[in-house]
This record gives sequence, C-alpha cells and structure tokens, in this order.
Amino acid sequence: QAEMAMYRAKSSGRNGVAFFDPQMQAQADQRAMLTQDLHTAIRECQFQLHYQPIVQQQSVTGVEALLRWQHPEQGMISPAVFIPFAEQTGLIIAIGDWVLMEACQQLACWQQQPELRRFTCSVNISSFQFAQADFVEKVVAAIIGSGVNPEGLRLELTESMLATDIAMVQEKMGKLQTLGVSFSLDDFGTGYCSLSYLHQLPIGQLKIDQKFVRNIHTRQGNLAITKAILALADSLDLDVVAEGVETSEELQQLKALGCRSFQGYYFSRPMPANAAFAKIMQPLNVISLAHGRGPQGAT
Ligand code: C2E
Ligand code: MG
Ligand code: MG
Ligand code: MG
Repeated sequence: QAEMAMYRAKSSGRNGVAFFDPQMQAQADQRAMLTQDLHTAIRECQFQLHYQPIVQQQSVTGVEALLRWQHPEQGMISPAVFIPFAEQTGLIIAIGDWVLMEACQQLACWQQQPELRRFTCSVNISSFQFAQADFVEKVVAAIIGSGVNPEGLRLELTESMLATDIAMVQEKMGKLQTLGVSFSLDDFGTGYCSLSYLHQLPIGQLKIDQKFVRNIHTRQGNLAITKAILALADSLDLDVVAEGVETSEELQQLKALGCRSFQGYYFSRPMPANAAFAKIMQPLNVISLAHGRGPQGAT
C-alpha cells in the first residue's frame, strides 16, 4: 500500500520522492467532494437532458440526448468531467438508468406528433452500463415505462465496449434489435475496434468523431480518414453522421465526400427539450432566416 503510494507520488509528482504530496491530497479531497455531490445530484434530480439535432438535407431527423449537471454552487458541469468520475464510483449505473428513462419519456412525447413518427433519439451508453447483466432489462423497462416506440431509440456505444466478450455483446444487442432498437458507434475511429465487429453486430450507424471533422477542408489527414470511414460505411451499408460540424467549410467538404447526416454547432447547440422541439418542428432554412445567418444558419 505504502509502496504503491510512493510509486504513484514518484511517477506523477514533479518533485520525485514526495511521499506526501499536497497536490495529490488536494486532488483526493476534490474527488471525495465530487463523489458526495454526485450522490446528492442523483437524490435531488440535478440532472437534465439537452438535445442536439442531427440533420439531413433540410430537416432534423433525430437528436442526441446529452446529459447536463446543474451543480448548485459550481453551475453547469460538463459530462466530459463527471461521467468518467461516475464510472469510477459506480454511480454511472443510477445516472444511466435515469438518462434512459428520461430520454424515452421525451421521445415518447415527441412521437405523438405525426411528423415525428420516424424521428430518433440517440442515447449515450457507458461501457459500465452496457456490461451490467441486467442492461437489456433496464432498456426494456424504460421502453415499457415510457410507452415509447422503440424504433425511435438509438443507443450510442463506443468501440471499446464491443471488444470484450463478443458472444455476450451479440446477445444483448440482438435482443434489443429484435425490439426495434438501433445502434450507433460513437467517436468512430478513435477507439480500438476490430473492424470485423462491424458486420458481426447489428450496428446501423457510425459517427465520425469530431476530431476528424475539424478543419477537414484544410487538413489532409482528417480528409483521408473521413474518406476511408465513408467508404467503409458505404460498402457495409451503414449510415454515417459527421459529429462536431462547426463551419460551412467543414460542411461543404463533408458533403463533397458524400456524407449526408451532420451534427454540430453549425446547425445547433444541444438545447433543453422545449427549445429543441421548436427547432425540430421548423425546416432549417426557416431557422437560419430567423438567425439571419445565411443559407444553413448557425447558432
Ligand atoms: P459524445 O457522445 O461524442 O457527444 C458529442 C459531444 O460533442 C457533446 O459534448 C456535444 O455537446 C459536443 N458537440 C456537438 N457539436 C459540437 C461542435 O460543433 N463543436 C464542438 N466542439 N463540440 C460539439 P458534451 O455534451 O459535453 O458530452 C461529452 C461526452 O460526454 C459525450 O460525447 C459522451 O461521451 C458523454 N455523455 C454525454 N451525455 C451522456 C450520457 O447521458 N451518458 C453517458 N454515458 N455519456 C454521456
Ligand atoms: Mg454520443
Ligand atoms: Mg461522439
Ligand atoms: Mg465523445
């Protein structure tokens, strides 16, 4: 135990042999506090889902649900900060259950609009959640509890969670697919995934990570990788969404490569359900006129 602490202090500390590193202590305190606050957040419902449109041509075909934590003192805390934390502490399970239920309830409500019958809501799933023995039951409970049409529910998985026990993954995905649930591979290209999974599993969509989208019109490397992903998706008959589209230059380049679905600040930031609904129900050209920002309109 002491040796481990020494080892960690040595390998991470800048002062070499520091056994008791005040910086490490401060970090540990901060972690304990955050864990405490996460417990409270779950109890007191401090979470919210925002929804970011996914667009194709001139219309919004779906949204991605993105978790927001309104901390009473610290304000909005990014999921990029607290999700890894929630995973380490196991709290991701309770949080993930809530996300599934909330997203399904919201989608069920949107599905009552005749225009939105084919509309999808994508929900991010943590590898810890997916690995639970009762994961499928949890999803089924959210579907039944909300009355949502499962055809609209899309679960976003990441490459790393598929690289575990393939038979188990196949079984879980298969059961959910039978119900009508579809799957998307998030941040595609950034993880470690054997490409053979792509046709062994019922994956319907790849999301090109925003890292490859960024300045794709000027960065040869990003262009080459995105081209390869689009070709792969085309030959396996998978849909593709380009994530994190911020500029019209990026959008034009992606379109020139044959990409047809997009998500990013250029179209819309993630927004609370009501605001998202207003955006979903309007054609994009109307939105851009309202913002006075040219043909496609950014926010
Ligand atoms: P992600 O699933 O890849 O989600 C996309 C992230 O990119 C979101 O960040 C979104 O706000 C951001 N984004 C969208 N368009 C743009 C753009 O044009 N430019 C830039 N710079 N960013 C853009 P967010 O909401 O901070 O979420 C970060 C990550 O946290 C997500 O990445 C996802 O991995 C995780 N996450 C979010 N909500 C949940 C959840 O409910 N459950 C789980 N397990 N993870 C979640
Ligand atoms: Mg995602
Ligand atoms: Mg992503
Ligand atoms: Mg991500």
